[in-house]
Amino acid sequence: MKAFFKTYGCRVNQYETEALREKLTKSRFAEVSEDFASADLCVINTCTVTEEADQDALRLARKINRRNPAAKLIVTGCLAERDPAAIQNAAPGALVIGNKDKKNIPALIGCTSAPDLSSITGFWGHSRAFVKIQDGCDMGCSFCIIPSIRPNLSARPFEEISSEIQGLIKNRCPEIVLCGIRLGRYLSTDLASRRIDFVGLLERLLEIPGDFRIRLSSLEITDVTDRFIALLSRADGKIAPSLHLPLQSGSDKTLKEMGRWYTAGFYRRRLEALREKVPNCAVFSDVMAGFPGESDADFEESLRFIGEMKFSGLHPFRYSSRPGTAAEKRADHLPEKIILSRAESLRALDRQLRTDFASHAVGSVSRIVVEGRPGKPEGLCENFLSVSLDRYPGPGFAWVRIHSSKDLNAFAEVLPQRARENFPIVR
Ligand code: SF4
Repeated sequence: MKAFFKTYGCRVNQYETEALREKLTKSRFAEVSEDFASADLCVINTCTVTEEADQDALRLARKINRRNPAAKLIVTGCLAERDPAAIQNAAPGALVIGNKDKKNIPALIGCTSAPDLSSITGFWGHSRAFVKIQDGCDMGCSFCIIPSIRPNLSARPFEEISSEIQGLIKNRCPEIVLCGIRLGRYLSTDLASRRIDFVGLLERLLEIPGDFRIRLSSLEITDVTDRFIALLSRADGKIAPSLHLPLQSGSDKTLKEMGRWYTAGFYRRRLEALREKVPNCAVFSDVMAGFPGESDADFEESLRFIGEMKFSGLHPFRYSSRPGTAAEKRADHLPEKIILSRAESLRALDRQLRTDFASHAVGSVSRIVVEGRPGKPEGLCENFLSVSLDRYPGPGFAWVRIHSSKDLNAFAEVLPQRARENFPIVR
């Protein structure tokens, strides 16, 4: 049977789709198809973090239902958890399965021989593997729907994560991206019942032998503790020096109303502490445009603050009203026109930051993870800069010299192993 998979949203979702894909293909129940129109099974793993994410998933469900009615359609993920009726409405024949039952999907579709895998051994079509270590968020950000969908904090046991990563390294996966809904809240115990927090987990993972590096998906600024910074500074590139630290707003008034638990001043101080010890660490951030009640002055203050933080890039997103959240109930929602224009200002700032990020890297050497394909070779630097390569060096790691940039794009030549010693290394 041919199976088509489509994932929306975060890296946790990507990981969960991969785990399902591996179960179905390893048991020879299905082979992967990139075309939903000719597939026998279509799986959509949805996200509901914004209205846009809902609509994208519903549109695809409708399309599959219309163009390939004979296929078995499964819709799972956060939208399936929050609003199964909307999916059923869009695609009446779909089997809608919430997050809690995701693991039962093979059995529900008759794949009884699926191996009981609690881990993955590769990442289909990618040279980097996302590894989920944690689930759930219990914070109360007033705009966010996630705590009502994935409310329970849970952490995978250290031994399970470690053996999954060792398997991925053995299968020549050079970069492991640790992901979770609130990654920094990882808390588990090992076989000797010792308590392992997020930094403790990283310390243990660094002891795994082999040539690999760890990258961290989104962390909160309050996770950037002195202990974490000390670990990052002595990891010597084994943890990629590139962090994604959501700010959301640079205005204290807006942060407070968002239910965020830090001030702009706190964010600045932690970033200074990080940069003092890890000066080349790239920092990216989520910033929101148009939170209810955000005045022109609040937005200007936020924009100024974002500029001062010297981020390497932004992920700007528009405020999206989510049912049942505290922000949804506010009476001071902004007109769409204002939200769009603020989002455009943030996007313009992001383009400028990414252009600077690419141009500052020119002349440096970096160890990349090779991505793309022989006809279009690309790589990802330690600091999360994407580079186009002059030739395909084969899978795995390669050393490159970044020789030029144009707008947001950087271009690099692949170096013979020894030549790198002649250039400054920019992590
Ligand atoms: S920390 Fe806030 S924004 Fe992030 S998932 Fe939790 S509630 Fe949502």
